[in-house]
Amino acid sequence: MTEPGSLHDEVIRVARDLIRCDTTNAREPGLGNETLCAEYLAGYLRGFGVEVELVARERHRANIVARIPGVGSTGSTDAPPESLAFVGHTDVVPCDPRDWTHPPFEAVVDDDGWLWGRGAVDMKNEVAARAVAMAELARTGFRPRGDLWFIAVADEEDGYADVGMRWLLEERPDIRPTHSVNEGGGERLPLADGREMVCYSIGEKGTLPVQVTAVGEAGHASVPTLGRNAVPLLATLLPRLGDGLPEPSRAPEAIAMLRALLGRDEPDLAKALAEAESLSSGLGDTIRSLMGSTLAPTMLWGSNKRNVMPARATAEVDIRTIPGTSPADVEGLVRSLLGNDIRYELGWPEEMVAASSSPVDGAVPAAIAAFLEAEADPGTLLPTLCTGFTDSNYLRAAGGTAAYGFSPFRATPNDVLEAGYHNANERVHVDDLLLSTRFHLDLARRVLG
Ligand SMILES: [Zn+2]
Repeated sequence: MTEPGSLHDEVIRVARDLIRCDTTNAREPGLGNETLCAEYLAGYLRGFGVEVELVARERHRANIVARIPGVGSTGSTDAPPESLAFVGHTDVVPCDPRDWTHPPFEAVVDDDGWLWGRGAVDMKNEVAARAVAMAELARTGFRPRGDLWFIAVADEEDGYADVGMRWLLEERPDIRPTHSVNEGGGERLPLADGREMVCYSIGEKGTLPVQVTAVGEAGHASVPTLGRNAVPLLATLLPRLGDGLPEPSRAPEAIAMLRALLGRDEPDLAKALAEAESLSSGLGDTIRSLMGSTLAPTMLWGSNKRNVMPARATAEVDIRTIPGTSPADVEGLVRSLLGNDIRYELGWPEEMVAASSSPVDGAVPAAIAAFLEAEADPGTLLPTLCTGFTDSNYLRAAGGTAAYGFSPFRATPNDVLEAGYHNANERVHVDDLLLSTRFHLDLARRVLG
């Protein structure tokens, strides 16, 4: 067993080395270069006897797949033992060094223990912690019952090149972990009653934007009653979308959040939402937004000449969906809200990205709870759905993986995490690197030991 002190130094070193590889991902040729991180991690893990492969669709954008093979079930059943994957991505979003206190690819650690750099929270911190946990498990002779995977992929932040997780899982049908842990949780939410919730992500919302086009008849603007101007027609239609929040419903993810917050099943949803709101400002609407589809009009098109009243005026509406919602459900909702007294057309500029989620309870959530308890950490687990997209979606779709987002933070306050996320001055406290490493060691032993 490595001393915690040296494990701390090791994970700081790995995180800094990863940040120093510029793996900026944007839709421009020559960007990405995740092979820099993949080769670094391969060399590091091979040093401790871990099986490692680079799997690349484009040479400079390699994914790394490492494994400590399972020794098989010791039970009497023939079912293959369950497997676990530590998951992450090695690309980062673009940044402008002029906005940073410390250069974003120098990985400065300041006197107060802050590690600064692009990727410090999204998510070279977590990749480093998972890699060091993997190395430590290998060199201490950990023999998992089922396979323990370490998967760090390219091209999560953009995805357009399709060289990352989606492609990897299609290319490699042997990679179908039973459980996985990836980015998307671990932040802490203090409540007005003094409790502190520790978030873990059970899924991601989906999207299906719609274009609502009011249809009238063109006319010259000098006589406003000529034709039938589509702009005021659209202006009549849009308020019918209301505040964009769904009617309260017993959607399972929202109910699980309310149960964790209130400590009971409150049948009166309005009362439950009001109580959640009183525990943390904004939480009521956040939970209500998980009770169905949300609708927010964001883009507008009318006439392209001031003196022409257009026959068509369009608003694009950002729509976010919860697991189990189909395109037909979304269309039905939009049409029921818009009514049928004004002529309109619906357009669908993008295919639906379906929401997905894993069970609130399971081996990984149980291991997170057990870790907090063993740490004498009073935090209470709060299941959440991300509004953004993560690679956990692909894992669920490919093999039904019970995929979660979690890496514990204790020394890095939530406002620091949020301020740096995809922004300038991204930073993490180095103590959280060790905390996360220790969590992943514990997770592997609990799930596969
Ligand atoms: Zn990320």
